[in-house]
Amino acid sequence: MGTKGREIVGKDVDKLIEMLNKALGDEWLAYYQYWIGAKVAKGPMRGTVAAELLQHATEELGHAELLANRIIQLGGTPLLTPEDWYKMTNCGYEAPEEPYVEVLLAQNIKGEQCAIEVYQKLVHFTKDSDPVTYEMVLSILTDEIEHEEDLQAIEEDIKLMKERA
Ligand code: FE
Ligand code: FE
Ligand code: MG
Repeated sequence: MGTKGREIVGKDVDKLIEMLNKALGDEWLAYYQYWIGAKVAKGPMRGTVAAELLQHATEELGHAELLANRIIQLGGTPLLTPEDWYKMTNCGYEAPEEPYVEVLLAQNIKGEQCAIEVYQKLVHFTKDSDPVTYEMVLSILTDEIEHEEDLQAIEEDIKLMKERA
């Protein structure tokens, strides 16, 4: 832990660490939901859908990396077990039990919308007190907004394709 680096964040540091850990649980669950979704996807444009899901999986893992590093910098302990991902999650996990592309897209769009809310709250929580975490959560929020739009664009293309078929 960096003592001065922790001190400048102020009195809310434990609350912040908890929020970051909850987001860390979300990211691991999102990672797996995307990764396994890319494997099992079926239906129209499955190649496009699978490639996008796999790209997002990689990006969620990148978010987990950023969060864990920042938690350690702040003197916290990143979640140590997968059980904790479930205990701490804000956004949950939706298994791709019905692997049809439109169902997968809808599940993952819902996850992104939840992630956008989580990072929006973190942006507000840190904006006046902790520029380092603020910059990190703002960049993650920007990615989640892009993820939602990417998935909604594919959803729209599938709809258009069906309408014109
Ligand atoms: Fe993420
Ligand atoms: Fe995302
Ligand atoms: Mg993308």
